[in-house]
Amino acid sequence: MTPVLLAALLAGSQGLSAPELWELWPQTRFVSAAAPCLRHQGLVERLKALETKHQGDLTLEEIGRSFEGRSIHLLRLGSGPRKILLWSQMHGDEPSATPALLDLADFLLSRPEQPEARAILAGTTLLMIPMLNPDGVERYQRRNAQGIDINRDALSLATPEGRLLKLIRDRFQPELGFNLHDQNRRTTVGDTGVLATISLLAVAGDAQGTPSTGRARAKRACAAVVSSLRLLLAGGISRYDEDWSPRAFGDNLTAWGTPVVLMESGGLAAGRPLADLTRLNFVALFSVLADLVRDDLAGHDPALYENLPRNQEGAFSDVILRGGQILLPGGRDPFRADLAFNALESDLSRAGCPSAPPAVGSRITELGDARFLAAGRGVEAQGAVLVPAFAVSVRGGRAREWLTAATLETLARLGVGVVRWQVEAAERGATAEAAQRLSGPARPRVVVAGSDEPEAGLRLGAPPAASRSSTLAGVLEALAGRAWRDRLASQSFTELLTGLGAGSPMAGEPASFLVLRPAPDGSLDPEQAHLEAVWLDGREIR
Ligand SMILES: [Zn+2]
Repeated sequence: MTPVLLAALLAGSQGLSAPELWELWPQTRFVSAAAPCLRHQGLVERLKALETKHQGDLTLEEIGRSFEGRSIHLLRLGSGPRKILLWSQMHGDEPSATPALLDLADFLLSRPEQPEARAILAGTTLLMIPMLNPDGVERYQRRNAQGIDINRDALSLATPEGRLLKLIRDRFQPELGFNLHDQNRRTTVGDTGVLATISLLAVAGDAQGTPSTGRARAKRACAAVVSSLRLLLAGGISRYDEDWSPRAFGDNLTAWGTPVVLMESGGLAAGRPLADLTRLNFVALFSVLADLVRDDLAGHDPALYENLPRNQEGAFSDVILRGGQILLPGGRDPFRADLAFNALESDLSRAGCPSAPPAVGSRITELGDARFLAAGRGVEAQGAVLVPAFAVSVRGGRAREWLTAATLETLARLGVGVVRWQVEAAERGATAEAAQRLSGPARPRVVVAGSDEPEAGLRLGAPPAASRSSTLAGVLEALAGRAWRDRLASQSFTELLTGLGAGSPMAGEPASFLVLRPAPDGSLDPEQAHLEAVWLDGREIR
């Protein structure tokens, strides 16, 4: 179709707005699996279904195989003169765009009544390589099965996947490429503290960023993505912060004559599902292609892209308790410090994939001044005292009669982070197995030790009683009867309290700590101070 006919097709058409595309996606998406759960086999099944559904309107070609022999496919649709290359998941653990490519192909081919869909198919030939790195996907890792980062292999071409990408580029000489990735989900938009949900780069073809017609178009394409997505994202769009990467594909494709737009899907505000990233990719790609065929993106000012705040790393933690006092073992006085930590949950478990590893773990990222760190969840801790979670000792293999999951959950609510289970050498194997069975989220960690090793914290001879009071005295009483009071003859309560902790320094460790509310006079008087909250390995228990 000539440009004149295309213009006629689109004349008077309002086009689909980003919010309209956003609303359409759930009922029109072609891939129902969450992006992190989609593996090679699932992709091939959906590609074949797409081919069957649109027989004659698209071609599906196996262009080659990965290092381990998995098929890599080129999906071709549209009959226009403008060739556009889109590829996804050259990093195996960066999946968000892969389903979006199939969703987009199906959407375009299923809506002949929609002028923009018709115009895109008439004006362009879309060349899609979904999941360029299937071996990496299978392991859910960045690199391919050779251990090579395909996106640093554009010059040496040691990977079969990289060679295929170059082959397709050279065979079709597309005028524009879209390189679709995911970035660190804690990247922020400059110093705004807002997560960078989408980051863009009009990739340079040389270190100087020499301007060219194609690169100017790539910048307008980035601006078009900003225009559409800013209707859906409050501030979450940034400029990718690396201008020139001489071994990367985007840079070299640009140098070879196919200017590339790098689009990175990143973090989402708390509570938003990862599927929103696939949905945003779908909206962005449709919008940019529609404007490309409408008027070569003439309505988009590159400055909108160029003036985006840049990506910032290391400026965000999942949870920050602000303004509390920290009391560490051996320290007599608490000191003021913020406490920031991240949950170590993978995308696989976040998306609920069947193959997902259990979602456990946390790491403290900052202990000190976190005023310049943004948080997914901020907790005001003014006036509170934070101490390491308690450790308790249990002796003898027979404790398995009462050391049950329910007991551990009660211990967790009482502030216990570690149970040290000390047994004779002969009992060690069976005890380790029992401890393994008892492990789980929101429970104390059970560590098996020798009977001759020193005890930690309070000794527990029986399951804890229900705590009648949340005062520190009530909690310690529930754990170990009156035993803790005997120690007060030889040490202060503060020394006792910090001595009961697991004892490790907090920074770099799992986030297991207690939030105490001091007595009205500011002291940790056991009869008046309260156990306000328990955090075990990043989870809030009470
Ligand atoms: Zn990547």
